[in-house]
Amino acid sequence: MKAKIIDGKAFAADIRARVAAQVASLKSDRERVPGLAVVLVGEDPASEVYVRNKGRQTKEVGMLSVEHRLPADTSEGELLALIESLNADSDIHGILVQLPLPEHLDADLVINSIDPAKDVDGFHISNVGLLGTGQKALVPCTPLGCLMLLRDHLGSLSGLDAVVVGRSNIVGKPMANLLLGDSATVTIVHSRTRDLPDVVRRADIVVAAVGRPEMITGDWIKPGATVIDVGINRVPGDSGKTRLVGDVDFASAREVAGAITPVPGGVGPMTIACLLANTLTAFCRTNGLPDPENLTA
Ligand code: NDP
Repeated sequence: MKAKIIDGKAFAADIRARVAAQVASLKSDRERVPGLAVVLVGEDPASEVYVRNKGRQTKEVGMLSVEHRLPADTSEGELLALIESLNADSDIHGILVQLPLPEHLDADLVINSIDPAKDVDGFHISNVGLLGTGQKALVPCTPLGCLMLLRDHLGSLSGLDAVVVGRSNIVGKPMANLLLGDSATVTIVHSRTRDLPDVVRRADIVVAAVGRPEMITGDWIKPGATVIDVGINRVPGDSGKTRLVGDVDFASAREVAGAITPVPGGVGPMTIACLLANTLTAFCRTNGLPDPENLTA
């Protein structure tokens, strides 16, 4: 039997609707709305698209959206000064610096200059430490989205064997910490792992975040496993066009898995939805309100 397709697009739309409803009630009760500032340095075409989409969706849920577009030769001092002013701005509850930054800028220094309470990407060292020690953090958006899809599909993750393929700071490591937080038994694998297919084959949950098109094939998947494909890879398609594929070979994996996310339409749409959820969470925490329900880790 073919795997159930996990519809990230529909789930992301549901998150946005829930965020929008809470923003609307904040507006009527408190006459205030959460504000998200996105900072883009340079003209990377992919980043331009992400920033535009983030701005549009932020406005659609009724939040304040502010964009700062800086030239590629912006100095570190100028960027840090902008972040300092956003840290001090009481209308701004979330700050996101679009990565990658031009090479002359130290991304770690820049990210760690963001007020951790406004770090809606969850990349500040304080939030990384809070997540790693099982405390309340702002959590990176893509792994948070994966966790929400897993909880929705599986209910409890307790005791399940989870394999995270990839150990990046943005996806793999925070994903592993989130799965541990939900009491899964977690293995992280990477480019030096021996017998990779055998390790993946033991997993009830596979999260693929490798950046290698269709690397994980159906014969790596345990029958009935839940497969979350984070990968976004452009490969040559028909008539000179490109098409998007994940890190999992969807056609063979769906013959074996119990459930699987497609690419596109799986994890991708969850990332911006979780960014909006994090901005709402940051607003609530700054204002001493309870966390929004079912929108946090
Ligand atoms: P990175 O390149 O930072 O990390 C890739 C990881 O995969 C590394 O840990 C690397 O291991 C591991 N890896 C690479 N090749 C192999 C291999 N042959 N076997 C086993 N492990 C391997 O990527 P990201 O984590 O940033 O992104 C991963 C994918 O997710 C990309 O396709 C990216 O586009 C996508 N992505 C999607 C998002 C979304 O919104 N849906 C958001 C972020 C990323 P090692 O550390 O040993 O080098």
